[in-house]
Amino acid sequence: MPKIHFIDVTNRDTVQASRISLAKLQKTLLNMYLAEMGVHQSEFAFPFTRHEQNYVRANLELQQLGAMGNLILEGWCRAVVEDVAASLPTGVKDLNISISTSDQMITYKFKGRLNREKIIQEMVEAAKYARKEGVRTLGVNAEDASRTDIGYLVEFAQAAKEAGADRIRYCDTIGCETPMSIYERTKTLAEQARVDIELHCHNDLGMAVANSVAGAQGVLDAGFDAYINTSVNGLGERAGQADLLSCILALHFAKGMENYQIGDNINLKVAAKLATYASYAFGVPIPINQPGVGANAFAHESGIHADGALKNRRNYELYDFELIGLEYGISQDPLPSGRVITTGEYGGLAGFKYVYSRLGIEFQDEEQAGKILELVRYANAHTQLPLTDDELRLIAAHPEQVRQVLTVTP
Ligand SMILES: [Zn+2]
Repeated sequence: MPKIHFIDVTNRDTVQASRISLAKLQKTLLNMYLAEMGVHQSEFAFPFTRHEQNYVRANLELQQLGAMGNLILEGWCRAVVEDVAASLPTGVKDLNISISTSDQMITYKFKGRLNREKIIQEMVEAAKYARKEGVRTLGVNAEDASRTDIGYLVEFAQAAKEAGADRIRYCDTIGCETPMSIYERTKTLAEQARVDIELHCHNDLGMAVANSVAGAQGVLDAGFDAYINTSVNGLGERAGQADLLSCILALHFAKGMENYQIGDNINLKVAAKLATYASYAFGVPIPINQPGVGANAFAHESGIHADGALKNRRNYELYDFELIGLEYGISQDPLPSGRVITTGEYGGLAGFKYVYSRLGIEFQDEEQAGKILELVRYANAHTQLPLTDDELRLIAAHPEQVRQVLTVTP
């Protein structure tokens, strides 16, 4: 029976959006949370980009050490041999390679350098090269698929499959699909090219989640697996992309979804922590009306609603806040304050040791403590935000990998 999986692209697509970004340490912790949540794959880097390469190597090491659960760490590059060749020395084993397929982009982006035939040729060369060099799973991305002639898209997908692709990424790059249109097109594509499909939807019309779900239904109805591309809190290029939590909630609670199975072992209880951390690290507040994790997602005030929700929560709540890792309904009170000791880029040993002892972490000797303190200072110099408890834990647990992550100079 075909299933739906999740590939989160926050660490590749979202971080390339204008005005928002993540430090390598924050990207690393995001991968760990995605792993804890049970997401199939994280598109975690541009492995050919020099300042990403230490981060890539260190995260692959963390994966080997078991710190990333079963999460697949996959890199993104253009579907050209030179990008694949520049990516592989980092040790990355899973790749998605991308090329535009629409006449719009062929005409106005490649401007005569490539035509439909040459697009397929270039992609096939890159895919075959990746396979020959030992790439384990290979996705081939059709950028602007939603504006691509469907006959040509099928031809492109068949050629990719023959060249070794495991999946085709259907990119609604500019977010022009509707649920009905994408359902039909992804169903046709999967049926005719006989291949698993990724849904990559942008939110320019506010329909990224709906389109991702409907597109996945089309792929499953054709008898193939679907892989929904998501981002944490829906952030991404322009108006963003399909929010991870909303997609998962939709597959659980939307009408008619009982006929479609999720293939990943999702632990929704991690969702609140993940969303809160991403908001903090990006410096972008979670909207008050965000599904699941918005401050008003489980709040009731009007007489009829409050009374109804208190009598039986199912009167006005589709799902439970406990399910997504919220311990209580969000209070009206500001958080309690008091004396706080933090450690960071200008911190000293005493405060540092105090903060760690509160996390239950002690050091063998002064030398070891000094070494970790040095990393804490560097980490804070990178993130320019107070380090979170889990960031501090990560630094103490894997100092060697963190040292790599913090060194962007190749
Ligand atoms: Zn995108």
